[in-house]
Amino acid sequence: MKGLLYYGNKDVRYSEDVEEPQIVNANDVKVKVAFCGICGTDLHEYLEGPIFFPKPGNKNGISGMELPLCPGHEFSGTVVGIGSGVTNVKVGDRVVVEATSHCSDRSRYKDAVAQDLGFCKACEFGHPNCCTDLSFCGLGGASGAFGQYIVYGADHVLPIPDKLPLDIAVLVEPLSVAWHAVERANFQPGQTALVLGGGPIGLATVLALQGHKAGKIVVSEPALIRRQFAEKLGANVFDPTKSENPIADLKMMVPENEGFHASFDCSGVPATYSTSVFALGPSGIAVNVAIWPSTLIDHEPMSLTYQEKLATGSMCYVVKDFQEVIKALDDGLIAIDRARVLITGKVDVKDGIEGGYKQLIEHKESNVKILVAPNGLDA
Ligand SMILES: [Zn+2]
Ligand SMILES: [Zn+2]
Repeated sequence: MKGLLYYGNKDVRYSEDVEEPQIVNANDVKVKVAFCGICGTDLHEYLEGPIFFPKPGNKNGISGMELPLCPGHEFSGTVVGIGSGVTNVKVGDRVVVEATSHCSDRSRYKDAVAQDLGFCKACEFGHPNCCTDLSFCGLGGASGAFGQYIVYGADHVLPIPDKLPLDIAVLVEPLSVAWHAVERANFQPGQTALVLGGGPIGLATVLALQGHKAGKIVVSEPALIRRQFAEKLGANVFDPTKSENPIADLKMMVPENEGFHASFDCSGVPATYSTSVFALGPSGIAVNVAIWPSTLIDHEPMSLTYQEKLATGSMCYVVKDFQEVIKALDDGLIAIDRARVLITGKVDVKDGIEGGYKQLIEHKESNVKILVAPNGLDA
């Protein structure tokens, strides 16, 4: 089949000779991919990886797979085959795929990995997104959706409503990252939120907050073009570079609570971490969504203690987040027309490296999401 193959650092190749994945297990579902978004993680794997992908010569802890493999973990498509035990989807269903792989997925790779390992504590306690072997379809857990077909466990596959177009459906994945973060803030209707950073996940967080019936949403972002994206989504915007005292100015934007109910750091630099805590009102919750490099920063414990603020993190998503995002899109709480703003390009898979990866790397701020179409743009 056609696809992009990840061989390692700065080495992703288009091939028409990628091995097509096949149904092996009773719970396998085979999906013909319609669209797959290129994620910041894919770019990190390209520029600095392998990170999640196994190192050359190593095997993935869940699937036992080795490089080269297709990347691609945010995707939509149509079911073209199911194993004998699958009951939640049928051939012809339009679907999205919750892409995590964790301890419960190991049993699908009996020939490749030992089956006597048991579950890690995170999986045992019901938090598979925190699995010690966490992996993804498209990052080593299985061959991903920059190829024409994927095969994955039925428990990860969710049907989508008729009114949700297959291109917008790709956004269910990044929206689920954001949805999980909003849930981590225990966010209630009418509350106020500060989003730090207007990149793809910051913008998805705006939509996820709207899905939670947020009151005022403010996006703090230095780049004009990204503030304009945030405004198109209906958020208020703030330019931290134009302020002598960003924290005081941000708090002035929500005077009723002397600060925000919740903040979401989608940038991951020392200044945004600090703002995420200091711009909160009493008992506010700061959620780190960004993936940080291994950096130490200054932190003042009393900044949490005095007003009983909480600082926490949000890791990825679980199936429930996908279900709730799909419902919010179906109910109109997340507006499909606004979600469409996030899609800034579509390319055929054969142009995926030049028109996708490199376009995103070289024109970072003017792009949000570029979709790759492994079965052609008209498929
Ligand atoms: Zn991603
Ligand atoms: Zn686990």
